[in-house]
Amino acid sequence: MEREHLIKPVLDHPYPTVQYGKGVFLYDDQGKAYLDGASGAVTAGIGHGVPEIIEAMTEQASKVSFVYRSQFTSEPAEKLAKKLSDLEPGGDYWAFFVNSGSEATETAMKIAIQHWQEKGRFGKNKVISRRMSYHGITMGALSMSGHVLRRRRFIPLLEDFPVVAPPYCYRCPFKLNAASCKLACADDLETAIKRIGAEHIAAFIAEPIVGAAGGAIVPPEGYYKRIKEICDRHEILFIADEVMTGIARTGEMFGMQHDGVEPDLIALGKGLSAGYTPMAATLVKDHVMAPILQGSKSIMAGHTYSANPQSAAVSLAVLDYIEKHQLAQAAQSRGVYLMAKLRQLADGIEIIGDVRGRGLLLGIEFVRNRDDKEMFPPAAGITARIIDKAFHKGLLVYPAAGAVDGAGDAIIVAPPLVITEAEIDLLVLLLEEAVREVMDELARESAG
Ligand code: PMP
Repeated sequence: MEREHLIKPVLDHPYPTVQYGKGVFLYDDQGKAYLDGASGAVTAGIGHGVPEIIEAMTEQASKVSFVYRSQFTSEPAEKLAKKLSDLEPGGDYWAFFVNSGSEATETAMKIAIQHWQEKGRFGKNKVISRRMSYHGITMGALSMSGHVLRRRRFIPLLEDFPVVAPPYCYRCPFKLNAASCKLACADDLETAIKRIGAEHIAAFIAEPIVGAAGGAIVPPEGYYKRIKEICDRHEILFIADEVMTGIARTGEMFGMQHDGVEPDLIALGKGLSAGYTPMAATLVKDHVMAPILQGSKSIMAGHTYSANPQSAAVSLAVLDYIEKHQLAQAAQSRGVYLMAKLRQLADGIEIIGDVRGRGLLLGIEFVRNRDDKEMFPPAAGITARIIDKAFHKGLLVYPAAGAVDGAGDAIIVAPPLVITEAEIDLLVLLLEEAVREVMDELARESAG
């Protein structure tokens, strides 16, 4: 055996080698097909191998691929910034480009803190987030993440930022009912602000729909309106982490549009380039930029590859493709179809406790007992087993936290927005087989 050099997520796991992708399928070097039921990590939103994107890539590469942002601006970067602002209903955002979702949220944090500094409010430098949240793997982003598993090793190096309750109706942290709870989870933010003091808080960050740390958890109606009202009243900026929900995934261009809320800052990643190139962005509303424009006139953030023309051209082509093929509407209608199919599946499978989500960002939570929502013990590794079985059958789904930090075992199903109904039928069939095989194994284990 030749020694290995590439550090893979699990070092002794035998990953197949991908050969190519087309539409919603990926193919490995043995010719096996995989239905990309989670767009990789909720990223490949327009599917694989789209010729228009490859053309845009080649065209830009034939002009110039890289310029350093402190020497040049470029047409694609300028156009992309304007386009993103135009897509947001408020239409008054600036864009700062980075390379990953983690950088986008971390930059949002830095800009929020800088905003207050420019106003002479130097004490406002904490960011509140929620338990069961994920905003990225870099130290700043991880400091804002309520993701026990990913933080654990680095606790001594992380900022001790406050966290508030997640809007997790299936397992309400206050043991209340969504119909009569009066949004206690949103009011938990106000309680925390009063405890810590608004003079110490720069921003509150949240995912419109909880992704990796929960499995497509949609907050109750009115939650974000209340959150924004609380933030505004206490002079705290609201950062929407739309890395997973952004760019048509939920049936609107931005996940927060469903709630009728315009965030002060927005982090984008994943779907922005649909996986064709590393690309992410921090959108910043005019009023947040205003003191910076009047003050130091420069954002203290950025990377060598920030706003590089190659990635910007690719993202522009992705946005064009999404608009031309009306993929936000497709996410909405195909999401309704997929949701109905998964709910139908849940009827016959007692370990499916909850099916939830919006558009084509759906989650399934697994339970030992549907009646009392009893969780499987973490050691049973249910999420991992289901994902593994599905993988062997040629179906890719995405793990949510998996019974940590109060979250149950859950997976995310989020195929490319171009998926057809026939492909959705296949996805659900493969998933059913995978879940049933794990159930059979569990029955054998408890019998033996
Ligand atoms: N925020 C959210 C909501 C995410 O889902 C992710 C990635 N799963 C990130 C931030 C971090 O993005 P990246 O992995 O591109 O750094």
